[in-house]
Amino acid sequence: MEKRIVILGAGESGVGAAMLAQKQGFEVFVSDFGAIAPKYQEKLTSLNIPFETAQHTEALILNATEVIKSPGIPEKTPIIKQLKAQGIPVISEIEFAKRYTHAKTICITGSNGKTTTTMLTYHILKKAGLNVGLAGNIGHSFAAQVATENFDWYVLEISSFMLDDMFAFKADIAVLLNITPDHLDRYDYKMENYAASKMRIVQNQQASDYFIYCADDEETLNALKLITIEATSYPFSIQQTVEKGAYLKGEEMMININPENPFTMSITELALQGKHNIYNSMASGIVARILDIRNLTIRESMRDMLNIEHRLEHVARISGVEYINDSKATNVNSTWYALESMSTPVVLILGGVDKGNDYNMLKDLVHNKVKAIVCLGKNNKAIHEAFENDVDLIVNTFSAQEAVQVAYHLAKKGDTVLLSPACASFDLFSSYEDRGNQFKMAVKEL
Ligand code: ADP
Repeated sequence: MEKRIVILGAGESGVGAAMLAQKQGFEVFVSDFGAIAPKYQEKLTSLNIPFETAQHTEALILNATEVIKSPGIPEKTPIIKQLKAQGIPVISEIEFAKRYTHAKTICITGSNGKTTTTMLTYHILKKAGLNVGLAGNIGHSFAAQVATENFDWYVLEISSFMLDDMFAFKADIAVLLNITPDHLDRYDYKMENYAASKMRIVQNQQASDYFIYCADDEETLNALKLITIEATSYPFSIQQTVEKGAYLKGEEMMININPENPFTMSITELALQGKHNIYNSMASGIVARILDIRNLTIRESMRDMLNIEHRLEHVARISGVEYINDSKATNVNSTWYALESMSTPVVLILGGVDKGNDYNMLKDLVHNKVKAIVCLGKNNKAIHEAFENDVDLIVNTFSAQEAVQVAYHLAKKGDTVLLSPACASFDLFSSYEDRGNQFKMAVKEL
């Protein structure tokens, strides 16, 4: 029987998977319950790949040999339940694409820091002259690149939703940055389910593979107690010295996985500043040392790495006030790290779609560093309740422009206006990028 691949969700990963499935000679059908973006419709049409938009026709889906599902579609969606009930395998685009490449993979997951660490690792590998691609939750889809490129290595940003549909896949080098509550709505509000999903990053690994993790992260350590790691493991820590891995010695970052040639670099020289970026840099540095990249190249790359948009991104300095766009901070933990890295009084722009946030962990930092909170969201009740005793002023605003105007009036010379919302953006914006861009535009209009 000819293999019929049905792809659910026609975004970047779905369209890439369709291209690769077609190249492999399979019968392909793409179905999206939402409207498919015009650029992807054009792509599918130009390749003669049949698709449907804004509907799922069961008769065309339930006859699949195998289904590739976009990470955005929850397991509980009726069509997925039906497929599973019929025993039709449902896999992720990453699982599918890996079957058709011999390239080695560096897979980076965690609740926070994935994009930063993926980009930094890619930057180092590229600078070292490796034939390397960048994919996963970022840029062009892995499957599309497997179909059209010929890389030896891939750095892949992997979300827990992708991991949930990966089975035979194996990471040659797996990085787990941290596990903190996020997306719990997709995991029956059970932290252990979410943690178990993240731990799938090590599945199928053998002794010749590598696993890099944060020894300061309690949830990671808890999860590690429940499984056996086959791979060579390298922890990183800023709280303790580790025997083999990365740690801090005063202000020096040390990586000692090749004892005859240890890597050292002052954290003051890192282009990406903030405590969280020490972790991210350690993880990238260990990967680079596993690949035996020269210390000098690693140091240069860490020094000249460009800041990534919407992540503690400097926007402007106006009348002595610094404006920073951290729109990608969509959970409390990432806002904690943003605030932690601030060395001036802060006017904090906070709010949006609250995914069940517990603001308690921010209270000390807000109390010590934040002079005013500008709420930017439709419903700001939880923020008022959490911080009414910690800051004198909490103001509601309903657009990026209004938030920036209010922040401008509240900030004094030497202060920082920080957009680090701790929430998703979908109440007032189309995405975190849209929120960040509107913020930047409003700042530039001041
Ligand atoms: P992800 O891709 O996992 O969402 P990003 O690299 O895009 O992570 O960073 C998102 C936000 O999370 C950043 O704006 C920063 O405030 C915070 N962050 C980055 N790295 C870390 C880390 N290692 N630990 C905690 N927070 C982090």
